[in-house]
Amino acid sequence: MSESIYSKPLPRGDHYNGEFYGYCKQHELRFQRCSDCGTWRHMPRESCRNCGSFDWTWERSNGTGRIFSWTVIHRALHPGFNDELPYAAVVVELDEGVRVVSHVIDLDIADLVVGLPVEVVFEDVTPETTLHKFRPVSSASR
Ligand SMILES: [Zn+2]
Repeated sequence: MSESIYSKPLPRGDHYNGEFYGYCKQHELRFQRCSDCGTWRHMPRESCRNCGSFDWTWERSNGTGRIFSWTVIHRALHPGFNDELPYAAVVVELDEGVRVVSHVIDLDIADLVVGLPVEVVFEDVTPETTLHKFRPVSSASR
């Protein structure tokens, strides 16, 4: 497989999804945050589940969190992932409290640990699309 051709499915670029990935393209991880009660949320939606407010802004996450959970995929549901099997789909809980499904790079799946500190990294997979991924926070930087 050529390095220059990205063969995996790409996120849809519309509505809130497009805004989220638009910030990723700028290498910023942002989530919706309620303007009334301050609750962060993800996935994006119209109103706050805590207070019901429809007022919110995209706020920048500090990009650090911990591994919350994961599942290991042994049979790819899309041929673009065949070369990476087995791989882990990881749920990361950011310091702001939101949880996102992503990938952890620079870590063997056998070394995944609940609570492991991770930080966001951005991967420009096509000229138009940047994906958020995570890597272990090195002990030297904590
Ligand atoms: Zn609220």
